[in-house]
Amino acid sequence: MLSSAGRRAFAALARPTLRSDVAFAFRPSPAALRRLLSALAVLEQRDGKLNAGSLSAVTAAKQLGGSVHGFIAGSNIKAVAEEAAKIEGVEKIIAVDNPAYDKGLPENYAPLLVENIKKGGYTHVVAGTTAFGKNVMPRVAALLDSQQISDITAVQDDKTFVRPIYAGNAIATVESTDAVKVITVRGTAFPAAAVGSGSAAVEEGVDPKADSPTEWVSEDLAKSDRPDLATASRVVSGGRGLKSKEDFDRIMLPLADALGAAVGASRAAVDSGYADNSLQVGQTGKVVAPQLYVAVGISGAIQHLAGMKDSKVIAAINKDAEAPIFQVADVGLVGDLFEKVPELTEKLKKAQA
Ligand code: FAD
Repeated sequence: MLSSAGRRAFAALARPTLRSDVAFAFRPSPAALRRLLSALAVLEQRDGKLNAGSLSAVTAAKQLGGSVHGFIAGSNIKAVAEEAAKIEGVEKIIAVDNPAYDKGLPENYAPLLVENIKKGGYTHVVAGTTAFGKNVMPRVAALLDSQQISDITAVQDDKTFVRPIYAGNAIATVESTDAVKVITVRGTAFPAAAVGSGSAAVEEGVDPKADSPTEWVSEDLAKSDRPDLATASRVVSGGRGLKSKEDFDRIMLPLADALGAAVGASRAAVDSGYADNSLQVGQTGKVVAPQLYVAVGISGAIQHLAGMKDSKVIAAINKDAEAPIFQVADVGLVGDLFEKVPELTEKLKKAQA
C-alpha cells in the first residue's frame, strides 16, 4: 500500500505538466499502476447473500488498474466472506464479524469502513449506487474529507469518471484529485463480476466498535416471489393510467406472470397507492436496464425515463399517441390499456401453452 507521502508524489507525477503550449501527460505503466493503486470494493450482503450491485462495483474497481480488495461486514460473516473470496479478480477479502453492521446503518458502518480504508492505505473505495451505498458512502467521503463521485457509468482512468447529471440529460466527466476517491457505481453500467474461480485470502478487518446512538429497531419488507426489479431481464411497469390499486394488480400482475417479469411503477402510481414504493422506477426510484421494459399507462416524464431509458427494448401502451413515452419506445401500441393488456396477456399465455 502507498503511504500518504507516496500518494502525494504519485499524484504530482500523474498530473499533466504544461510546458509552453505543449502538454505532457505522464502515465505510469500498467505494472506501476498496479503497485500504486489499490481499491476497496464494498460488498453488501443480506442474510448471507452477496448483493448484485456490489459485484458491479467490483467490476468498476478492477477497471481502475490497481489491486482490488473486497470489504464485507455483518454477523456470521464467515460463509459469505468465503463466497466473496471466489469473486474473480479480487485479491483479498477484509471481513468484520459483528451484528452491529448487519443492516448497514451509516452511523455504524461509515466509521468501520473508514478505519479499514486507512489501515489498508487504499486509493479508491467503491460501492454500488444502492440504498446502502447512497446512505453510507457520503458519510465515508465526509469522514475522509473527500468529495464523493456518485453514480458513475464509466471509468476513464484512475481519477477520471463519467456520470449522468440532470436526470440523465447531460453526461459529466469529472476528475478527482482527492487522496482517497470515494465512488458509487451505477449497477446497470457495469456487468456483475463473476463469482466462481477467484481464490482471495480472507483477512479479519479492524472493528472500531463505535458507540453509536443509532440502533436498528425493525423493518417492514414487501415480500415477492417475482424477479428482483433492479436486476430482472424483463420489467413491466404501470402508471397512473391504471386508475386504482385493484386495476393495477388485475392488469399488471398477470402480464408480469406471462412474461416472467418483475413489476415496476411510475411515481404517480406509487403516490396514488397503486404500488409499493420499492417498485418505483426513475430518478428517485430504481434505475433499471432490462432486456425488455413494458410501460403501461405511463406518460414518459423525464424523471421516469431517467430510470429506464437504457433498457434494451422499450414497449409502451398508452391511449395518447402524443405521450412522450413513444419517443423512446421501440414498439408502441396506442389504445386503451384495459382492453389491450388483457388481450396481450392472453396471447402470451397461449403462445407458451
Ligand atoms: P401521468 O403523467 O399522469 O401519465 C398517465 C398516462 O396514462 C398518460 O400518458 C395517459 O395518456 C395514460 N392513460 C390513461 N388512461 C389510459 C388508458 N385507459 N389506457 C392507456 N393509457 C392511459 N416519476 C417517476 O415515474 N419516477 C421517479 O423516480 C420520479 N422522480 C421524480 C423526481 C422529481 C424531483 C420530480 C419533480 C418528479 C418525479 N417523478 C418521477 C414524477 C414525474 O414527473 C411524473 O409526474 C410521473 O412519472 C408521472 O407518472 P405517470 O406517467 O404514471 O402519470
